[in-house]
Amino acid sequence: MRLTIVHLYPRDMNLYGDRGNVLALARRAEWRGWEARVLDVEPGVPISWAEADIVFLGGGEDRHQAWIADDLVTRGAGLSAALADGLPLLAVCGGFQLLGREYQAQDGRTLPGVGWFDATTQAGRHGRHVGNVVARATLPLVPATLVGFENHAGETVLHAGQGPLARVAVGAGNNGHDRTEGAVRVHAVGTYLHGSLLPKNPHLADWLLSRAQARRTGTADLPPLADDWEWAAHRERLTHSRA
Ligand code: GLN
Repeated sequence: MRLTIVHLYPRDMNLYGDRGNVLALARRAEWRGWEARVLDVEPGVPISWAEADIVFLGGGEDRHQAWIADDLVTRGAGLSAALADGLPLLAVCGGFQLLGREYQAQDGRTLPGVGWFDATTQAGRHGRHVGNVVARATLPLVPATLVGFENHAGETVLHAGQGPLARVAVGAGNNGHDRTEGAVRVHAVGTYLHGSLLPKNPHLADWLLSRAQARRTGTADLPPLADDWEWAAHRERLTHSRA
């Protein structure tokens, strides 16, 4: 199988090792004998969503988000149709915020969102949420824990009917109040977890890859990988991420 990863706005949206998520997806595909290619998509570059197997959008500071928000919104209808059809996506922090309805930034500007996730984000007035996160996924992951690092001023509220990716045990998550972390809709995952996230959460990486494989081949089962280092990194974060 050939896996095509669409990496949206790698030049501007790439904080705290977010690009490592793309490397982890490509490498885990190659370890299984697939061919993996990454299409870097900057503003104005055309995309055929039919070619995409997985989409990744990383985080960025408010000014980076402002540079790409309009371009992302122009792609919103096509992207949303592909996501509704089951295209897997991972969006981190600033990218997650722009897949919601809108982001009201620190300087008072409102950046439009795609509206795929039924969520609204407003920059908090009480400083930033910074630190390690441990959360329990709502997806059927084994183990259920997700580990990562958050650094955001934005506080995201999920609207009725929009489920979270996880519930926070350590850290702030979406807003520091309701213990929700991220969002899931069909096979699209939004999260505040940087890190890189996927190298130390291989079960989430494989959840995305198995959804991609199922769309192409009809079978979701992936051959297991050894993952000793990946789980060692995961356990290390569990041990050292304390409230
Ligand atoms: N600029 C956004 C915020 O601070 C996103 C930051 C990020 O992607 N880490 O909320």
